[in-house]
Amino acid sequence: MLDCHIHLERGDYTLEWIKRFVTTAIDRDLSEIWLLEHCYRFVEFIPMYDNVCAFSDYINKWFKKKSGVLRLDDYLRLIEKVLNQAWDINIKFGLEICYFKQFEEIVYNITKDKGLDFLLGSVHFIDDFAYDHKPEHWDGVDVDSTYKRYFETSIDLADSGLYSGIAHPDCIKLFGHQPSFSLLEYYNSLATSLAKNNMYAEESSGSYRRCPTTSELGMNRDLIKAMKKYNVKIQTASDAHSPEDVGLYIAELEQILKDN
Ligand SMILES: [Zn+2]
Ligand SMILES: [Zn+2]
Repeated sequence: MLDCHIHLERGDYTLEWIKRFVTTAIDRDLSEIWLLEHCYRFVEFIPMYDNVCAFSDYINKWFKKKSGVLRLDDYLRLIEKVLNQAWDINIKFGLEICYFKQFEEIVYNITKDKGLDFLLGSVHFIDDFAYDHKPEHWDGVDVDSTYKRYFETSIDLADSGLYSGIAHPDCIKLFGHQPSFSLLEYYNSLATSLAKNNMYAEESSGSYRRCPTTSELGMNRDLIKAMKKYNVKIQTASDAHSPEDVGLYIAELEQILKDN
């Protein structure tokens, strides 16, 4: 079993910290883990966030607290150190990158030739709206047009050709908002673009673990069917932000993929 979305961010870049992720992964019968960091932890990516910080005081404060604490070189050195050791499990390293259409070139220039195993594209901002922080941020927001822009942005992400996979493909449902129209057409378009760009889609437990009362476990079942119809590879992910959460619900996600 694979967990392809595990954040390192709450510890120092030491082998002891990595060992805690590996130990939990082995306890939970995983054979492979993909470790990553949010791109905004690295100073190199900070210029992408001017607009979203200007758009929201909340995001501006959040960003100042979280961003730019490392340089990408620090991460590359950790990766080298880890890969020089023998481990009882396969380990890959990548980045989770917030997608902004206007910054595709910045992302390309920063990440090319870095030797990372994967680049994961994420829609965390719909235009400038950070939809997944708090439910009250949706007050006064038009759900239908936000859903449309979410899927249009997801399709742009896929068509950018920058990414190996797309993270949590229908995370917009996190707080229980639903559009008044059918999403089937968007599901098919997204799956078509992912297939064309040879990208995987995550089957993730992240939203459910955060919001079990408003979010189902994994993708919408019709979205799973669309991914399968267009032969998009689906990979299981926890979106763990600490070692204890590695591998959570991966077996259940595997079962959902079998059943749908
Ligand atoms: Zn994410
Ligand atoms: Zn994540």
